[in-house]
Amino acid sequence: MADFVTSGLNFRQSVDCMVDRALALIDLQEGVANQIKSCNAVLEVRFPVEIKGKLEVFTGWRAVHSTHRLPSKGGIRFSLNVNQDEVEALAALMTYKCAIVDVPFGGSKGGLYIDPNKYSRDELQMITRRFTRELATRGFLSPSTNVPAPDMGTGQREMSWILDTYKQLFPNDINYIACVTGKPVQQGGVRGRVEATGRGIQYTIREFFRHPDDVKSANMTGGIEGKTVVLQGLGNVGYHAGKFVSEEDGGKIIAIIERDGAIIDSSGLNVEEVKSYVTENGGVKGYGNGDVKYIEDGAKALELECDILIPAALEGVINSDNALNIKAKLIVEAANGPTTFDADRVLSDKGIVILPDALVNAGGVVVSYFEWVRNLSHMRFGRMERRLEEDRGNHIIHALKEVTGKEIPKWIEDELTRGSDELDLVRSGLDDSMRTAYQQIRETKLTNDRVHDFRTAAYVIAVQKIARAYMDLGIY
Ligand code: GLU
Repeated sequence: MADFVTSGLNFRQSVDCMVDRALALIDLQEGVANQIKSCNAVLEVRFPVEIKGKLEVFTGWRAVHSTHRLPSKGGIRFSLNVNQDEVEALAALMTYKCAIVDVPFGGSKGGLYIDPNKYSRDELQMITRRFTRELATRGFLSPSTNVPAPDMGTGQREMSWILDTYKQLFPNDINYIACVTGKPVQQGGVRGRVEATGRGIQYTIREFFRHPDDVKSANMTGGIEGKTVVLQGLGNVGYHAGKFVSEEDGGKIIAIIERDGAIIDSSGLNVEEVKSYVTENGGVKGYGNGDVKYIEDGAKALELECDILIPAALEGVINSDNALNIKAKLIVEAANGPTTFDADRVLSDKGIVILPDALVNAGGVVVSYFEWVRNLSHMRFGRMERRLEEDRGNHIIHALKEVTGKEIPKWIEDELTRGSDELDLVRSGLDDSMRTAYQQIRETKLTNDRVHDFRTAAYVIAVQKIARAYMDLGIY
């Protein structure tokens, strides 16, 4: 976060500067541009909860950046880094993110100033339920207007509490279950939501490597296999992204940065093993045998020589203090706002390619959109068509055998006779969303000589889509 101070820009201003850079390239009335950029509403609440016999007062925010589409969507984070500025910046990112991946939502974000590790499960439940009541009774939570999701420090458990509290307050709302996404499957969640942001990151990286020109622009050749990766953060997003990129696509994780430092192993780290170690020991220190090097100043590992750097933790970690030292060829922004505006310019000048947060980590909200649709339809995806697909597959196999008189290889038979279940459909929809968004951004970058980087191209697209929505609505 240091850079937001040293550069004189806070997080929200840093995001605005990036959007301004895109706005300068398109012909848009100033008023429309200002409307797009401004945060429509912010709620700040303070509420008391009795903890171990004493009243404690908590402060929380919910920012609604845009309502050109409803509901407004975005996570709720529990952290001591939370403040109004951060929540507004993150809500703005949600607006652009949704536009980029064609999710028909406005942008919102919530935060509670709290260290969740300092409270018991029951205490957190009381705090979350009270925060939910504050939001719901003030019009900042409902299936039709504002739908939260997990973010830093929150997960399925907190989403269940939010759901249950909303349900108690509004039992007549037939769509109550859609008031929050990222719920456990047993509570109306969709399969594939937990892994979604990490999956989306994997799909984006795969798409990047499908375009040899893009790979060449980052001074690389070939595919993901064997590429060296530095990963920052083993939370839900970083863990899944690192796991999929290494286990399924052959990327080599040479360093993992966590809160207490970084571990480095040029022969490759096993994400699953490191994650279990962190869960057990609270950090990476002491992991592995002699081959694994530990450094206390984890941020230094961001500066390691590598092909791909995946910052999947906090905002502002790549800033004007370290931008000149970054040696990665490609930065894949899994976190929200990991690169400050100043650093972004330094990195671009150095020829480092950045895949921006507003595209890369949009997988979470894409699958939240699927969950919300599933909740409104009150039915699991695939329930109607799965067996029909299987029957069709069986008929095709039967027909092929009749016509050719030959046996069909078992794997083809298995694939053709398997109907899609919910997870298949969610992954397919997510892959399509990420690939289409990447291709649109790439196209914009290629066809506009004033657009030189993926971030500006992404914002050009986002702003144009949002502007169109405002114009169509008759707001000039
Ligand atoms: N918190 C996630 C994000 O920053 C997910 C938001 C959502 O699913 O609404 O994108």
